Amino acid sequence: MKTATLRLLIPVFCFIVTLSSNAQEKASAELPSLKNKHVILVYGGWEGHQPKASAEKIQEWLLKEGAQVTLSDSLGVYTQTEIMKHADLIIQHWTMGEISNTQIKALENAVKNGVGLAGFHGGLGDAFRNNTEYQYMIGGQFVKHPGGKVDYKVTIADNINPITKGLKDFKVSHTEQYYMHMDPKVNVLATTTFSGAHDSWIKGVVMPVCWTTQYGKGKVFYLSIGHQPSDLDTYETRQLLIRGFRWACK
Ligand SMILES: [Zn+2]
Repeated sequence: MKTATLRLLIPVFCFIVTLSSNAQEKASAELPSLKNKHVILVYGGWEGHQPKASAEKIQEWLLKEGAQVTLSDSLGVYTQTEIMKHADLIIQHWTMGEISNTQIKALENAVKNGVGLAGFHGGLGDAFRNNTEYQYMIGGQFVKHPGGKVDYKVTIADNINPITKGLKDFKVSHTEQYYMHMDPKVNVLATTTFSGAHDSWIKGVVMPVCWTTQYGKGKVFYLSIGHQPSDLDTYETRQLLIRGFRWACK
């Protein structure tokens, strides 16, 4: 390429980069800040999801955002009224397992009264399989990840919502593509399409990957990416999570 052409192209490139970072900043400004917000981060359940490692990564992000974080490895935190009465957001990363009646009632009441609830992958979308009220609150339930670990594309379905605004479609590799049973009420922000390479009869099925919903006065945010802690390092995944946490916060 000739130097003259390069001289012409560099400002154009810089202009595009500036436009794109402006879009990011604008989207960011539309969402409330997590500064000084009280976040309860609960982790546990099936060890295959390395809940502690993922929760610690999320905790680091939250602290950088200025949030006050209570990290707990017990569902008993939901019944600790002193902690719960200050909560603005609950982030749960607890795959499968069981929750007691008092714990689920405390969680439901908190969200119904306006505390935000957010999470990802099995930690929110595959917890307490025998509890239908819990699934009613989340808006979707994991049923299978055909093919195990695969590469797949995530399509941004909403360019206006500040959670996805300015983000481009992206790829994730060697991880689980969640097939979920969905509540038609949810507001879908991103999707994935099944290729049919595993289970031919689901070829072309468009499945929500990221959504928001409401339970009582509480805002609920979900992202299905995040089988392993390293999945959270993808730029878009991290953006979706941080923005989703900010959106869901009371
Ligand atoms: Zn998984």
